Amino acid sequence: MSRVRSRIKPKAKERFQKRIRDVIKGLSRPVEIYKQPRKGECPNCFYDKMTASSTGKCKWTPAQALAKQQEWENSGYVTTRYKYFLKGRCPVCKGSGYLETVRKTWADCLVVWNPSARGYGNALVYTPAGTEGSTIVLLKTHPKNYDLFKDADKLFIDGIECKVSRPPLLRGLGNEAILIITAFTTEKPKVDSDEIIKDYR
Ligand SMILES: [Zn+2]
Repeated sequence: MSRVRSRIKPKAKERFQKRIRDVIKGLSRPVEIYKQPRKGECPNCFYDKMTASSTGKCKWTPAQALAKQQEWENSGYVTTRYKYFLKGRCPVCKGSGYLETVRKTWADCLVVWNPSARGYGNALVYTPAGTEGSTIVLLKTHPKNYDLFKDADKLFIDGIECKVSRPPLLRGLGNEAILIITAFTTEKPKVDSDEIIKDYR
């Protein structure tokens, strides 16, 4: 008997885990992730370490700048990163010498607004310091998204701006693992009122 049981158990477990993943997949919706902007030296002009700003000299010849910009656009970007100028204010960094690249990406997540009111354990949810009165949102997603959420600057969940309240939490091991993210917003979500209980404490 016990033998049979031990043979069935992992299978059942597997099925169960697959179901959880399917549920997440089926009910998930895209969450927009803004990563912390990356600040780097301007790719278009020479940087002056003494003044910590642009030297006002272009790194490229007109043909080089065109080719590099074309290459940049071919990889899917729409911003101007390379543009020839003769002398003076760099048109890319406006003379600052730095360029901030905003990185935005998406991840499919199961979204639970105000999880404590919906029967989720206390262990998963807490109110970040200084955010009393804000709405908590719990996300469940595939562990592969860990890095996306780890240094996320802000999230847009159902069109509402949220902040991640602590590092993402990995629940379970190996194939069973699910990534859990707790975020909060001080905006009042405008989704149907049944879904959200305001003034969460
Ligand atoms: Zn520049």
